[in-house]
Amino acid sequence: MDVKASYLELQGEIDAAIAKFLQSGSYVLGNEVEAFEAEFAAFCNCQHAIGVGNGLDALSLALRAVGVKAGDEVIVPSNTFIATWLSVSHCGAIPVPVEPIDATFNLNAALIEAAITARTKAIVVVHLYGQPADIDPILSLAKRHGLRVVEDAAQAHGARYKGNRIGGHGDAVCWSFYPGKNLGAIGDGGAVTTNSADIAREIRIARNYGSSKKYVHESKGHNSRLDSLQAAILRVKLHHLEEWNMRRKEIAARYTAGLSGLGIILPIVPEWAEPAWHLYVVRHPHRDFFREELSRRGIGTLVHYPIPPHLQEAYKGESVQQAQLPIAERMAADVLSLPIGPQLASADLCEVIKNLGQIAAAAPAA
Ligand SMILES: *Cc1c(COP(=O)(O)O)cnc(C)c1O
Repeated sequence: MDVKASYLELQGEIDAAIAKFLQSGSYVLGNEVEAFEAEFAAFCNCQHAIGVGNGLDALSLALRAVGVKAGDEVIVPSNTFIATWLSVSHCGAIPVPVEPIDATFNLNAALIEAAITARTKAIVVVHLYGQPADIDPILSLAKRHGLRVVEDAAQAHGARYKGNRIGGHGDAVCWSFYPGKNLGAIGDGGAVTTNSADIAREIRIARNYGSSKKYVHESKGHNSRLDSLQAAILRVKLHHLEEWNMRRKEIAARYTAGLSGLGIILPIVPEWAEPAWHLYVVRHPHRDFFREELSRRGIGTLVHYPIPPHLQEAYKGESVQQAQLPIAERMAADVLSLPIGPQLASADLCEVIKNLGQIAAAAPAA
C-alpha cells in the first residue's frame, strides 16, 4: 500500500485544504473538526461522530464511556491488532480472548457465551481486514447478558453489513485514520461513531480534559482531539472513499478469479457482507515460502499479524499467555496480505497474480 499515492491523486484539493487551514487561524478543534464529524457521521449513517487522537484512544475512550472499569472483563478476538487488547488493558480491565471463525477471520458468536462471566462488561467486535463481522447474533447475545458492544472498525471504513454501513450497529464504533487505512490522514487520527447522545457526550468531554466549558472540568479527562489539519484532509478524502473502495473491490475480484485453483486459501465473503477490502489476506501452509519468493521478485507483502496478542511480551506473566488459542496461532503462521490499494496499477496487479501462479506451482505440497 503506497500511502503517498492517495495524496498525489488528490494533490490539488489537498494542497488547497491545507492552505485554507493555515489561513483559518483555528488550529485545535473548531470548524474543520466539526464539519468532518458531521460528514463522517452522515457517511456512517449514524447520529454522532467524535474525532479523537487515534484509533487506540477511540477504543479506550469508547470502552470507558460504555462503563468499562478496572477489574472488568472484556471479550476480544484472539486474532486482532494488539490495539484492540491494549484499549481494554488501558481501562484496567482484562481482555478475554475468543477465537474467530476460520473462514472469515471474524469473531465466532457461538463461542462467546462460554467466555462470559459475572465480571464481563463488554464485547469488542473487530471487522478484521475490512470484512464485517456477523454482528446481529453478537448484539442479541449482548442484550441477553446485559453487555455493551464496542466495534473496532479501524479497517472497515465504508464496509456494509446486511446493506448498512458499519458505524452504528453497536453502542460505539471506533475508527482509525492512520495513513494506511482506507480513510487515512497524513498523521494520526481517530473517531468514535454512536447513536447514543450520552456516549457521544461522554467521549466529547473525555477527549478534551474532561471539559465541555473552558476551565470547568467535570471528569479526569484526556487530551485526545482529532487534529484539525488531519480533519481538513480527511474531509477531502472522504469524498473519494466510496470510489476508492470500489477499486479495492475490483482488485479483490481479480485476485479471487486469478488465484483460484492454486492451492492458496482465498478470502470467503458471506452473502450479507460487503467488505471494505482494507486487506486481501490469503492463507497457505508454506506462507513464508510465498513471502520470500515474492520479495525476491520485488513484490512486497505483509503479515497481519505474525504474533497474536496473547503471545506478545506485553502480556508476559498474565494468565492469558496460557490460553489455548490454536486458531489465532495458526492464522499467525499462515496468513499473507497481498498488495491492495486504490492506486495499485492494473499492470502491477497482473504481475502479482502471474508470479503467485508460478510460485504456487513450485511450492512444496501443502
Ligand atoms: C489500526 C488499527 C487500530 C489502531 O489505530 P491507531 O490509529 O493506529 O491507534 C486498532 N485496531 C485495528 C484493528 C487496527 O487495524
